[in-house]
Amino acid sequence: MPHVPLDIDALADGVRTGERRALSRAITLIESTREDHRQDAIALLEALREPKREALRIGLSGTPGVGKSTFVESFGTFLTAQDKRVAVLAVDPSSTRSGGSILGDKTRMDRLARDPLAFIRPSPSGAHLGGVARRTREAVALCEAAGFDVILIETVGVGQSETAVAEMSDLFVLLLAPAGGDELQGVKRGIMEMADLILVNKADGDLKPAATRTCADYAGALRLLRRRPQDPDGFPKALTVSALEEDGLSTAWDEMTALDDWRGAQGHRARRRKEQALYWFGEDVRRGLLAQLEAGAAQDRLSALGAEVEAGKMTVAEATTRMLDALKG
Ligand code: GDP
Repeated sequence: MPHVPLDIDALADGVRTGERRALSRAITLIESTREDHRQDAIALLEALREPKREALRIGLSGTPGVGKSTFVESFGTFLTAQDKRVAVLAVDPSSTRSGGSILGDKTRMDRLARDPLAFIRPSPSGAHLGGVARRTREAVALCEAAGFDVILIETVGVGQSETAVAEMSDLFVLLLAPAGGDELQGVKRGIMEMADLILVNKADGDLKPAATRTCADYAGALRLLRRRPQDPDGFPKALTVSALEEDGLSTAWDEMTALDDWRGAQGHRARRRKEQALYWFGEDVRRGLLAQLEAGAAQDRLSALGAEVEAGKMTVAEATTRMLDALKG
């Protein structure tokens, strides 16, 4: 197909004025892996860099079944009822276009999907977390340029996608379900340490006592963690909510904004965003280098040197030095 030149300025204007179709097109562009599209995507992101608009970026994680979709639906609707414009994005490396994506199944987000103040975009497909995360991070930038007030970035609570989401969020919220006994659920310490707010969902009906107990257990566990400089007194916090009954959402929002306001005033938010930009720069460069290594001539060289190592004809040290020298060009 011949390359039809894209009017980047027109697309950038469309995004800036908050046109949904322009935003959707822009996200499709940044998701494309075609080289010519990539050049356009880079130009578009550059065109939208200024004037700077910032949304509150909220990362949301939780294992399947804790109620993420239900929470995003009710919390998102709670926000749009206050005239906030809400974008919902996701990082789900296992997802494909046809299904499997946490947001692909929009049945639980019916109301929000029809809400004119909300914009929902499923996770880009792809097997590699790095690629999916980059595209979601760029979609965050587009949504900010489009003037959204709040961006919810959802991920399943398995593996490294949580780190990726925490690295593109101002606040990281961990959603949990009430535990059966009085033991803490098998939440990894590293994930607890990332959380700014733990929300124990399903605090309704028969589950309410268990939710209250689980919340108290986590509040206790959070107090044992090392104090972080970006936290005012009392944070990180654990609260109960019911996404189904839309209970506790207002308290959760108040806590989020209180924390974000404090961090904003102390300079933590701005500092964190700079650190995040550097983090992703490093990640993207490393990913680019690996892609180069796996392409063409470098791959042949790698195989040839690998064969020498395998046959015991060259030491690992020697082969590595030769490979790195070759890459220097
Ligand atoms: P996800 O896999 O984390 O996105 O979870 P879903 O939002 O799909 O919810 C999983 C199940 O939990 C569904 O049957 C929901 O109806 C139910 N659920 C979600 N939130 C609540 C809640 O606040 N209370 C109760 N009782 N059930 C809930």
